[in-house]
Amino acid sequence: MKNIYLCAISNVSSGNCSEDCAFCTQSSFNKVEIKKYKQKDIDVILKEAKMAKQNQASGFCLVTSGKGLDDKKLDFICKVAKKIKKEIDIHLIACNGTASLEQLQELKKYGIESYNHNLETSKNYYPKICTTHSWEERYKTCLNIKKSGLNLCSGGIFGLGESDEDRISFIESIVELSPVTIPVNFFHPNEKLPLENKIFNAKEGLKWIKYLHQKATKSVIMIAGGREITFKDKWTDTLKAGANSIVIGNYLTTKGNNSLDDIEKLKKEGYTIAEHCSH
Ligand code: SF4
Repeated sequence: MKNIYLCAISNVSSGNCSEDCAFCTQSSFNKVEIKKYKQKDIDVILKEAKMAKQNQASGFCLVTSGKGLDDKKLDFICKVAKKIKKEIDIHLIACNGTASLEQLQELKKYGIESYNHNLETSKNYYPKICTTHSWEERYKTCLNIKKSGLNLCSGGIFGLGESDEDRISFIESIVELSPVTIPVNFFHPNEKLPLENKIFNAKEGLKWIKYLHQKATKSVIMIAGGREITFKDKWTDTLKAGANSIVIGNYLTTKGNNSLDDIEKLKKEGYTIAEHCSH
């Protein structure tokens, strides 16, 4: 029986991002109409964390829009982490963009246990989807995360117009970093985004999950954004292909499945839900 790790995310600040990532609805370059705010109320975040725990999530991720951490953002995430940890036993992940070793060490002091920073795609293809910062800068943050003693979560997104060669190269870089968790996203098309308005093919998706699983044998493979639109009601096929974790509930700016329906489907198909994070 396969044990599945559930993770929930909270967009604690949304939109108005200075970066031009082509796949992202939060970039100010992409003019997508989304809810924008600087800081979600701490009590609202706490309520979401409690709901995540109730829905059997073993991890809860605090995500902010924007290029990276500054003093104000760092202070806010530390405050939120401290408050959640005081009340709930849940593994806390932060996802706040570019971060220095010192900033990451500070997060760790306040209860953050993992940090998510995706490479997104291959080194060669990255300049085609983002010109405001480099892939190398992303890689550097991943190295800082490892150095800080936080668990590294790093993966990316399929369906940005990248070639198979790019996918192989991206997976090689991820394997090199050996993350504890590899979040795998599938592009969610939106007519306001400067990319082809195309849903990633499910068969291709399964092929790349299998490939990733063969290469990254020690990592948890977590299926994140785009699960519902690429795989529809066949999303548990991703678990057969090698994934062992999913994001439940809503995403940053798009709606996800109902968490209870997902849990019911997992149980019906013989999966068990992990009570604690693997790390
Ligand atoms: S840096 Fe993050 S929030 Fe900003 S546009 Fe890129 S992916 Fe979106």
